[in-house]
Amino acid sequence: MNSKSGFFLRLAQSGLQNLSPYKPGKPIEELERETGKVDLVKLASNENPLGPPSRVLAAISREHGNLARYPDGGAFYLKQKLSEKLGVPPEMITLGNGSNDVLEMLARAFLGPGTEAIVSEHCFVVYPLLTKALGADLVEIQTSDFQPDLDRTLKSISEKTRMIFLANPNNPTGTWISKEEIIPFMNNLPSSILVVLDEAYYEYVNSQHYPNGIDLQRDYENLIVTRTFSKAYGLAGLRIGYSVSNPEIADLMNRIRQPFNVNSLSLVAASLALDEMDFLSESISINNDGMKFLEQTFSRLDLQYIPSAGNFLTVDLGQNALPIYELLLQKGIIVRPIGVYGLPNHLRVSIGLPRENERFSVALAEVLNNFQS
Ligand SMILES: *Cc1c(COP(=O)(O)O)cnc(C)c1O
Repeated sequence: MNSKSGFFLRLAQSGLQNLSPYKPGKPIEELERETGKVDLVKLASNENPLGPPSRVLAAISREHGNLARYPDGGAFYLKQKLSEKLGVPPEMITLGNGSNDVLEMLARAFLGPGTEAIVSEHCFVVYPLLTKALGADLVEIQTSDFQPDLDRTLKSISEKTRMIFLANPNNPTGTWISKEEIIPFMNNLPSSILVVLDEAYYEYVNSQHYPNGIDLQRDYENLIVTRTFSKAYGLAGLRIGYSVSNPEIADLMNRIRQPFNVNSLSLVAASLALDEMDFLSESISINNDGMKFLEQTFSRLDLQYIPSAGNFLTVDLGQNALPIYELLLQKGIIVRPIGVYGLPNHLRVSIGLPRENERFSVALAEVLNNFQS
């Protein structure tokens, strides 16, 4: 028997048979090993280009003395802090090892064989992965102009539907749903169907029409909001996120949560990060400027992009994006191919620091130039 025989695959539970693992953005260290180059630019995972807030880093180093102890599994202090900040009781908050962990707890609590989850075309891949892994059916609703179609979503509900995943804004498209769209949608949705509103990029959105999911949650108990410290707060490597839900849902999640799913450094870092309002404003301002710069770059190169409310911009290259992605790698620049999202001609580019955006812009122009000549 060799490792390719499929012997163990046949033993695995049926939900896993046709799954491919999540493919993250290429780590900088990997490209360094492959090319021997240094000074690489990674614009591939929607991380905060400023890094973590400096006060948070200092607090993490002070925490080293406590590392032999288990973390506070109940996360008393951070929940208290989030509770004050968000204006919801701690019983409604569930912490996760990244918001992906929270998404997994929700899926495991409500999805399984005989149930169905609804997602939009081009949605965050973690939703289909979880749904299929748990043996539930996946219903994918077509978008129109990359915009989630909430009417069609309502029409697709069946007696098996248990959960609807909506990222607002969505990754990798950057499109978002307004208050004016989501309120009638929630009004028309049976209360037995849960809506997971993933607000990973909440802090970046600047529009009066953008709904605050936590405000909506007061009116709709079947709404669950997830947020993260991975994006605007600059703590992707620490893995911490949370959900705000009805307390009964939080209690169900707590039954399957790993007892110490959030580590001590993350607990301390997240608590302090919540006070970093200046850091947050600076991050948003750098993002707004970088977004304008990339939009201008793409327009100048005659490329269409999907207008984005997040910290990334997805561009249509009008041809298979992989060769261009590879040539950008050779120039030391990592962006994200999104063929698995059904967008083989697009690349997703995270907004970086001005000099990183600049290097990407120059490199892309060179690569496209070589392609045409
Ligand atoms: C980045 C991202 C997350 C965050 O994941 P973490 O596990 O919190 O790092 C969640 N949802 C979407 C849509 C994302 O793009």
